[in-house]
Amino acid sequence: MSRAARASIDLDAIRHNYRLAKSQSSRARAAAIIKANAYGHGAIAVARALHTEADAFGVACIEEAVELRDAGIGQPIVLLEGFFEADELDYIARHNLWTAIHSVHQIEALARAQLPNPVNVWLKMDSGMHRLGIEPDRFQQAYRRLRSLDQVADITLMSHFACADELDLDVTREQIRRFDQAAEGIDAPQSLSNSPATLAWPEAHRDWLRPGLMLYGATPFEVEQAQAAKLQAAMTLTTEIIAIHDLQTGDAVGYGAGFVCQRPSRIATLAMGYGDGYPRHAVNGTPVVVNGQRTVTAGRVSMDMMTIDITDIPGTAIGNKVELWGSQLPVSEVARYCGTIPYTLLTCLTRRVAIEYR
Ligand code: PLP
Repeated sequence: MSRAARASIDLDAIRHNYRLAKSQSSRARAAAIIKANAYGHGAIAVARALHTEADAFGVACIEEAVELRDAGIGQPIVLLEGFFEADELDYIARHNLWTAIHSVHQIEALARAQLPNPVNVWLKMDSGMHRLGIEPDRFQQAYRRLRSLDQVADITLMSHFACADELDLDVTREQIRRFDQAAEGIDAPQSLSNSPATLAWPEAHRDWLRPGLMLYGATPFEVEQAQAAKLQAAMTLTTEIIAIHDLQTGDAVGYGAGFVCQRPSRIATLAMGYGDGYPRHAVNGTPVVVNGQRTVTAGRVSMDMMTIDITDIPGTAIGNKVELWGSQLPVSEVARYCGTIPYTLLTCLTRRVAIEYR
């Protein structure tokens, strides 16, 4: 017997979601974003699952790309933050990594590098997020400088949206306008769309999509969205009931007496806590699924355990499986009860949670 905390990954769902991303555009290719260990789903397993169809992969840094190359993944890999030190450039050139370039500092480091062959570059514009990227009024100059370098092969123009998940804001429209204005006249492929833009901003599709979260079947939106409704959850996080207590009205549960029974209650303790990556910020009333029925958390999440109310689910017993999020309970919904976003729930599971692939 071992502790029952498990993340079961449905690789077919990931393939379905990748196809859904590509089907949003009649012509765009799609770099499957598998940084942060494929948002907690296992980068090598996800890359292998997509290897016959993904046009490219996207990761945050060279260590993540090396892991994929060492595992035999051959597709182009985009380093979304580019290189951090110039000594990464030799590996980048030799292993067909495509590097983002987001600063003049990086351009000049590239200009000084001795490379075995030219590298493909994604030149990033800061169209309004003010995190990474060349300012719009310096973009043409940066492009011309890159174009003049022997170290550079193809150039793709990219930018990243700050608010594409907020469908009624004008921020995304304004970022697109700035990008188009600053990139005018440059004959190069373009890439703007993360998951929300892939699903909801067709004018941003361009030549390369960059779907991340949607590959894992989670909606990036707070509201219902028709395309997002077609996503299939890839990760189902489950554990088991390890204890059951019948409590009286007024009895308190867990640290800080965080839940007080308002009626005679049956409380189940689960082998899952913030030491597994389940968020401590989950409020009382966060949904879980027991034997196909929804119920809620009752009491604070502790390091190794958490407690749920099973009063209304007769027949529930020690050893019964509980879903914390997944095929019956969207991770985006759970995230709302935890004051966070699905991205953090998926990426923050710890190694205590065994990953299994279906
Ligand atoms: N492109 C870039 C540059 C990113 O940083 C990210 C993730 O943050 C993505 C694409 C994928 O975003 P999402 O997971 O919202 O699809």
